[in-house]
Amino acid sequence: MRRKKNTPTDRQFTMAHVRRVERISPSFVRLTLGGMDELAPRGHDHWCRLFFARDGQDTLQLPTRTGEVGWYLQYLATPRARRPWVRAYTCRDVRPDTGEVDIDFVIHEDEAGRLGPAAQFALAASPGDRLGFLDQGIGFTPDHPHDWTLLVGDETALPAVAGIIASLPQDARGMAIIEVPTSGDRQEIRAPLGLEVRWIHRNESSAGGGPPGQLALEAVKATVPLRGVVHAHLIGESALATGARRHLVQEWGVPKRNVDFVGYWRHGRPATT
Ligand SMILES: Cc1cc2nc3c(=O)[nH]c(=O)nc-3n(C[C@H](O)[C@H](O)[C@H](O)COP(=O)(O)OP(=O)(O)OC[C@H]3O[C@@H](n4cnc5c(N)ncnc54)[C@H](O)[C@@H]3O)c2cc1C
Repeated sequence: MRRKKNTPTDRQFTMAHVRRVERISPSFVRLTLGGMDELAPRGHDHWCRLFFARDGQDTLQLPTRTGEVGWYLQYLATPRARRPWVRAYTCRDVRPDTGEVDIDFVIHEDEAGRLGPAAQFALAASPGDRLGFLDQGIGFTPDHPHDWTLLVGDETALPAVAGIIASLPQDARGMAIIEVPTSGDRQEIRAPLGLEVRWIHRNESSAGGGPPGQLALEAVKATVPLRGVVHAHLIGESALATGARRHLVQEWGVPKRNVDFVGYWRHGRPATT
């Protein structure tokens, strides 16, 4: 899927540690990471790759190359038994004054009731646990004048949508559609007056049994097209991101270059690293 290149050139791997663990809502665990004094806050949907030791690994071995492709080639060349797990996450808050970063993890299970390695790490985490951190920059980079901002996402996108909204100018206009598992997972988001935030709670929907993202996609399809130039940022489960893009391009007539879309995860498929 299309992602504009914005990876920072000056980044380093950081060996971070868990400072605090908080169950902030029914579906989210927030880990506050320490040791992040060097990380510059980038706002918006600032994201990172996190590296976790696999079961049976005594040490967390991080790549030494930091180039966008270099670290990954080095990772692939490392025998699987020594490779860490790698997953992408959003920095919900970056506080250089205390050297802390908050990451909000969705605690999800697959159909057999198994947690993914990242969700498992978050659920079992305690202060002192170590994990690797690689800065990935921001993904929200509209490069054209527009009248409306349209943000659409599921729960994995909530940290990114909240960060993007906090970074928008006060005169921004548009809409954010955010699907979360339960009403208890809503977070307070202070949006510009002209930006409507619509929440969808899966547990309250009669059609709520489907994979995450389906209700948000239905909501996009039920929305009256915004008149004027739109910039859309569509993130979350892959079928939501691609389905919403198709709808906006085919039914609303939004030019493809005005639509950024990123599948954050795929239903039924673990991340490949
Ligand atoms: C740029 C970016 C930013 C992201 N930011 C965040 C973030 O801030 N918070 C966050 O929680 N996630 C975020 N994600 C999504 C996260 O990387 C994936 O959900 C990841 O697959 C979780 O890893 P895991 O090890 O827990 O599960 P995996 O091992 O990858 O998957 C195991 C199983 O769980 C399923 N699965 C994975 N994620 C979910 C889910 N959320 N709900 C239901 N089933 C799931 C998979 O389909 C698979 O069947 C982001 C992804 C990207 C690309």
